[in-house]
Formats: sequence, C-alpha cells, structure tokens
Amino acid sequence: MKPTIQVHDKHFEVLIAQHILEERIADIAQNLNEDFAGKKPIFLAILNGSFMFAAQLMKSITLDCQITFLRVSSYQATESTGKVLQILGLNESLTGRDVIVVEDIIDTGLTMIEIKRQLLAQAPASLSIVTLFQKPEALKQPIDIQHVGFELENKFVLGYGLDYDELGRNLADLYVLCE
Ligand code: 5GP
Ligand code: MG
Ligand code: MG
Repeated sequence: MKPTIQVHDKHFEVLIAQHILEERIADIAQNLNEDFAGKKPIFLAILNGSFMFAAQLMKSITLDCQITFLRVSSYQATESTGKVLQILGLNESLTGRDVIVVEDIIDTGLTMIEIKRQLLAQAPASLSIVTLFQKPEALKQPIDIQHVGFELENKFVLGYGLDYDELGRNLADLYVLCE
C-alpha cells in the first residue's frame, strides 16, 4: 500500500514525484527558450497556486525576461451579472509585449478564459498560456493552451503549490485524493 498523508479531514497519496515534475518543467522552459528566442517576454504568474511552478520554471529560462505575480479575486457581483473576476497587482503595460501566463492548473477553464479576455484587452504582441496541470475532461469551453505539463484525471490534487483549504501548498510532490 502507498503511504498516505492527511490534510485537514482527507487522505492523499503521491501522484507525481517532485523529480518527474521538475524534469517536465525543464522541458517546458526549453520550449519557451526556443519559442521566444530574441524576445523579451513578461511572465505573469498567478498566485498563490503557481508560486512553486513559476520558481522552478524560471530557473531554466535563459531569456531576457520580466516576471511579475498577479492575484485573481473572484466575487459575486449581482445575481444577474454573476461572478466577477478581478486581476490584482498588474502595474505594467502589456501593450505590444509578449505575455506568458503561468498557471498551476486548468480545471473548468473558466478562470483562464476570463484572465485571457482581460489581458487581451491590453493588446499584447502575443499571449501564451503555460499551465503545469490540466484536467481535459473538466474543460467547459475550448481554450488555446500553448504548454501543458501534465494532463490529469478529473480528481482533486494538492501539493507543489496547490492547496486544500489553504494547506498543502508546501508539499514537494503532487498528491491526489485517495478513493
Ligand atoms: P477553473 O476556473 O479552471 O475551473 O479553476 C482554476 C482554479 O481552481 C485553479 O487555479 C485552482 O486554484 C483550482 N483548482 C482546480 N482544480 C484543482 C485541484 O484539483 N486541486 C486544487 N488544489 N485546486 C484546483
Ligand atoms: Mg490557479
Ligand atoms: Mg485553491
């Protein structure tokens, strides 16, 4: 039996070990180094979930580049307008820039579709999305994602930056909820 850990009330087991995650992240960095050769992209890492991925990715990026950290806050506006997503912490103009969004996981895709819509309004030269994980079965609308680290089954995961009710972000491996 695999060893399990407990976070809050639930049990989790290792799904992807740190060294596998980090080998794949180095591959993604290599692809980005090739895609953006001669350019000066700006990386926008979405906090909190992407902090560990972004830190590891940037260590293998050899481009002249900027990195900045954003937060998205989602709140219920009115019954009719539904949820509003606000991007916080963007002080830079993106107009004419090569923008690379760094996300932890794309589940339904709704968060990323809204982030994309708001960033495209600034007319960047290009907009690429890099996500460490994606759950293809959970996607609600089609979305172009340039780099996906790992495709996952539709199960709850934590660790490597991802939380369960704010715990578990510090775990160095990726864990999945035990059946
Ligand atoms: P989406 O809008 O794509 O459904 O959701 C995106 C956000 O939901 C992610 O950035 C992440 O914060 C959260 N999320 C989705 N699936 C998981 C999961 O399996 N584990 C954790 N910890 N967070 C998830
Ligand atoms: Mg996220
Ligand atoms: Mg969360």
